[in-house]
Amino acid sequence: MATQAQPAVRIDAATGRKLFNTRAEKASERIAGKGYDVVDDPDKLALPAIKRGAVFDAEEQARYRQFNEVRKGTDDYMAMEGSFARYLEDHYSAAPVERDALSDECDIVVVGAGFAGLLLWYKLARAGFDDIRFCEKGGDVGGTWYWNRYPGIACDVESYSYFPLLEEMEYYPTMKFASGFEIFEYCQKMAEKFGFYDHCLFHTEVNAVEWDDADERWTIATNRGDAMRARFVMLANGVLTTPRLARIEGMERFAGESFHTARWDYDIDLRGKRIGVIGTGATAVQAIPELAKVAGQLYVFQRTPSTIDVRDQRATTPEQVEEWKHEPGWAKARRTRFAQLIGRRALQANDDFLAGKVEAPGRRRVKEGPRPTREERIQSELQASFRIMEQIRDRIDAIIEDPKTAAALKPYYPYGCKRPTFHDEYLPTFNLPHVTLVDVAPLGVQLINERGVVHDGVQYDLDVLVYATGFDFMSRETLGHVRGVDGRTIAQKWQEEGTRTFLGLHSNGFPNLFIVAGPQGTGGSFNFTDAIEEHTDYVVWLLTTMRDAGHGVVDVREQDEASWSQHCAEADVASAPLRDCLSNFNGYGRAEPGALAYYGGKEAGRRRAWAKETLEPYVFRPARAGR
Ligand code: NAP
Repeated sequence: MATQAQPAVRIDAATGRKLFNTRAEKASERIAGKGYDVVDDPDKLALPAIKRGAVFDAEEQARYRQFNEVRKGTDDYMAMEGSFARYLEDHYSAAPVERDALSDECDIVVVGAGFAGLLLWYKLARAGFDDIRFCEKGGDVGGTWYWNRYPGIACDVESYSYFPLLEEMEYYPTMKFASGFEIFEYCQKMAEKFGFYDHCLFHTEVNAVEWDDADERWTIATNRGDAMRARFVMLANGVLTTPRLARIEGMERFAGESFHTARWDYDIDLRGKRIGVIGTGATAVQAIPELAKVAGQLYVFQRTPSTIDVRDQRATTPEQVEEWKHEPGWAKARRTRFAQLIGRRALQANDDFLAGKVEAPGRRRVKEGPRPTREERIQSELQASFRIMEQIRDRIDAIIEDPKTAAALKPYYPYGCKRPTFHDEYLPTFNLPHVTLVDVAPLGVQLINERGVVHDGVQYDLDVLVYATGFDFMSRETLGHVRGVDGRTIAQKWQEEGTRTFLGLHSNGFPNLFIVAGPQGTGGSFNFTDAIEEHTDYVVWLLTTMRDAGHGVVDVREQDEASWSQHCAEADVASAPLRDCLSNFNGYGRAEPGALAYYGGKEAGRRRAWAKETLEPYVFRPARAGR
């Protein structure tokens, strides 16, 4: 049972407003862990030098094409429904706090209490919009960092640029690449410091959001029987929210324990067990070295190898902290510099550059003569990508003892096709006697029985099966619940007309609705909290503008939405050759261009600035008297 110091819903004596202290108690004390360790061995801290003569010639290009070709159409995922719905259960909280269903009205309802929700609260409250209610499916804040608690979890973006509001929080992350547990705790600290908990309904899943055009209000229904009303609705529920399972014959027959990485079950004792992991994406790469530390036998079923770059993890030094304490604005300045880094440079996160001590690494001098064409630029980027990938492949040869395992671990695709990963312990894990890489390329695991996985006629007996099979990237689930002016949901509108947004934040026909960091709004750049910062700033600006001008409702013009969506599609097509392969990011080749992540770079900032300056894209209605 949850123990609550205060009742779930109470009236604040000073303001007369309802406050919602409905946070569920954290149930499992066994949840602990850390991200990657610091590795001192200098040999592990750099990729091998590039071999002479390594060029992306016709032979290598054909090899890349073939690697991609054989994987076409193999992705087959399914939602966690029916008996698999158990994989979605929340292991991390006590039972939901009992509370009355709500049918009152507030100014703003926000879906989600991850970083986007927390930043919305911080910024909106400071701008005077504090009649806000948050609805969160989980039992606490954190979003991604609430749900993902697998051993070894860490952030791949340097923490000093990833954590928002570091100065306001007077907080210094302990490591350059922070553990997921530290990030989760940081979210809790933010919530406590800024009074967020009093505004959030936990264990509350929004399942219908409908616009009443006559009343100019949204109604928001939840799984707790609520039917609330609000002037504004903000969707802040992330892009990797819905875990998915590979569809594999016989998986329901497996007699051992099984779970998905996004709901790690710490009640299952893994020590000495025979464990199988399906998937080798960014999650598995972090979890596998930790699993190997406890497993009796570990089988890693790999369909496509990840890119394993050097991590170079470091502890934050007292000197760094001392420097930051005396440098007002340090975190914002660092975040701004980080945003200038693209591709591998962002992940390398050069400290001297980020501290403002040197120029951006690798900034090339402008050559004299005609500017290269787009095709020439792409070719030059592909050559650079090939050189990095060669070094990544050579690192595998340098570390892995068994040549067959080494060959299977080598990726043949452009850098960035599959989400690049970084680890200094992952590759050496495959030299351990109790760890086996099972190469299931190109089709993946196809058969599971009560004893475990069967592949190529070999039975792999398992006690525990871990699905590291990822998420439905930019899932449309919530968008299927939001009904606008003409009664269609956003998902229906996009199904019929293609993905249509303005700046990724608005969709015409859905007035007073904001989609924070969703399709066409984010995903193409590495630092996700950067997009959240930009979007939350924008939302605060628009609400303030409306308040100052006496507007009650905002929608966007169709022509501006069409133009933004076209720009998203063009940017996607233009940059596609650099990540030309099948992956989550392009719906395994099936997503329409521009439907998912945004690849337009700085153009988003320019168009946002234009919209703010001219107000041209907006259609406002005046606020009604007395409301
Ligand atoms: P993912 O990248 O989608 O990986 C899913 C894995 O499952 C892939 O390796 C896939 O193989 C494999 N798979 C699917 N069906 C299979 C089958 N039948 N047999 C064998 N393998 C199968 O998921 P994820 O690793 O959870 O990462 C998702 C995203 O989370 C990342 O892209 C990243 O954005 C984010 N993430 C971020 C961090 C961070 O540090 N910030 C850490 C972890 C994750 P194929 O590649 O062949 O499809």
